[in-house]
Amino acid sequence: MEIVLHGKSATVQRIFCVGMNYLDHVKELNNKIPEKPVIFMKPASSLIASGKNPRFPSHGSNLHYETELVLLIGKGGHVKQESDAIRFISGLTIGFDLTLRDLQNNLRQNGHPWEISKAFDDSAPIGNFLEFKSGVDLNNIEFSGFVNGEMRQKGNSSEMIFPIEKLVSCIGSIWDFLPGDIIFTGTPPGVGILKKGDTFSARFSLSNEEFSWQFQ
Ligand code: ZN
Repeated sequence: MEIVLHGKSATVQRIFCVGMNYLDHVKELNNKIPEKPVIFMKPASSLIASGKNPRFPSHGSNLHYETELVLLIGKGGHVKQESDAIRFISGLTIGFDLTLRDLQNNLRQNGHPWEISKAFDDSAPIGNFLEFKSGVDLNNIEFSGFVNGEMRQKGNSSEMIFPIEKLVSCIGSIWDFLPGDIIFTGTPPGVGILKKGDTFSARFSLSNEEFSWQFQ
């Protein structure tokens, strides 16, 4: 997918995702509180823009929405320290980390990688990116997720176990960033089921726009 932000375009090659980054979500899934950010990846082919119709996955039986704040990385390079992290962020939006929970639970129990439960086609719907400006407080962004018009999740970046700058410095110290990298920052509590035909949408405090998708 090509992301265009203020006349500059970048091809997304990598999507980094963070799991278990909100305490009440960790508890609702009966998981242990992580000591370090839990990082996984989705292929760029998982992305689907707002207004499109994602394919409903047929290889599991319990599809969950996870509403998440999503970052766009605007410049390449290695992040040496946490105080540098903010300079790598160029955009913000809201997206969903769609997850086949039955498969994920089964894979985790067996100690197997969880890609088939989280990295399938159209598993990463994202809205349009808003330019990240210096006045925006990264630690106070409110966002919510809706299914068929009903609010199901509400979160604020202030509730993250590992805040945004920590996540960016952690990921950018392991991988050298490429412009166009995307980071899903984890979901607040309230995850739940999506069915074929459902419409799901998200909004955040930085914009009046609502981003929405309906399954094929
Ligand atoms: Zn997630």
